[in-house]
Amino acid sequence: MPFLTGLLLVVLLGPAPANAYETENVVLVIIDGLRYSEGLGDPEHTFVPRMAALADEGALINDFQNDGYTYTSRAIPAIWCGAWTETISFSDPDCGGSSNKYAELPSVFEYFRQGLERPESDCVYTLKALCPWKASFDSNYGPDYWPLYHSVGVTDLDVWHETEQIISTLAPHFLLMYLADVDHEGHSGDWDAYTESISTADFLVGELWDVLQADSAYAGKTTMLVTNDHGRHDYDFRGHGDDCEGCRHIQLLAVGPDIQSGLQSDVSRTIPDIAPTIGELLGFTTPQATGEVMLELLVEETVSVNEPRVQAPASLRLNQVYPTPFNSELRIEFESTGRVPVALSIFNLDGTLVYESRPSTGSIQNGSLRWDGRDRANKNLPSGVYIVQLSDAQMAVSQKVIMLK
Ligand SMILES: [Zn+2]
Ligand SMILES: [Zn+2]
Repeated sequence: MPFLTGLLLVVLLGPAPANAYETENVVLVIIDGLRYSEGLGDPEHTFVPRMAALADEGALINDFQNDGYTYTSRAIPAIWCGAWTETISFSDPDCGGSSNKYAELPSVFEYFRQGLERPESDCVYTLKALCPWKASFDSNYGPDYWPLYHSVGVTDLDVWHETEQIISTLAPHFLLMYLADVDHEGHSGDWDAYTESISTADFLVGELWDVLQADSAYAGKTTMLVTNDHGRHDYDFRGHGDDCEGCRHIQLLAVGPDIQSGLQSDVSRTIPDIAPTIGELLGFTTPQATGEVMLELLVEETVSVNEPRVQAPASLRLNQVYPTPFNSELRIEFESTGRVPVALSIFNLDGTLVYESRPSTGSIQNGSLRWDGRDRANKNLPSGVYIVQLSDAQMAVSQKVIMLK
């Protein structure tokens, strides 16, 4: 069937897809000042049963840290900016000229809106009624790219009702819901009020996920991240702000179509890694962020590039591609029944061919290949998701892998 073979070649050997993620929306929830020992760090999940169920469905980082200032006015902007940004005081005309703060570095809102050319209504920040801290005045970003601040009500429940409205009316592709009550009740010194506010926040996170999954604009194409700005002293739940483990160890829960299911990740991560990860999923860059994409949370799926309608016997099969994430050497094990040499091609997520095996490579038929993470010029490639593709004359098979340097 020469015609069919030719057709398949054209389809198969084209570039890899530009964006391999299913995620179209990201919802970020910040629960202020929830100590990990009352959250998902409690093996009984006494106050957080809904988040524990979501952690089973998605991924949890065992060692997620606030690696900077363990108080809200610095840690929240660090979540936004993917870096420990300075905050600068100014007289805010949006708040009657009263003193407010803005972040020096651009934020994830600005990167999202500028990078993807999205309107304000596509980027919403819900929080209780106050004069919200503002994103940056960076000359490349700034107020034209700030989020739509929806600052309403007094309690977390009020913020949730507002958020629910936003979801059903504006359906933004990027949404941040900020819940303040846990920190507030912690400072009150009333243990029961503190733990009750944790149960409420947990309930609201569960409700949020259920609402998203019942909404056609979000179901199956939304990643939710739930984190904290800081914890609380391990020696006194009423306060926070120092270097103790209770203040530093916080939560990062991720759930969504591109997030591994049931993963408990042992890769240590910190607050600045959140914004670049959101950028990776939605397809924008975060140039001034210092954090890195949490690639280890993402699904490695086997993409069969070739799924012919006509059932031809497969000439090529990928058996194992490992380890992933890999650091210095990736091993690719395959079976080939074809008569021509198997070619190895590596693409980045933009679809650019970064490496291909040379035909003279002798080991190509023996069912096992290695790739050292270097490009064709023998230079080290950066950490990231790559697509490994094997092809022969009839078909190509590919798989996403993660390189972590
Ligand atoms: Zn506080
Ligand atoms: Zn502390």
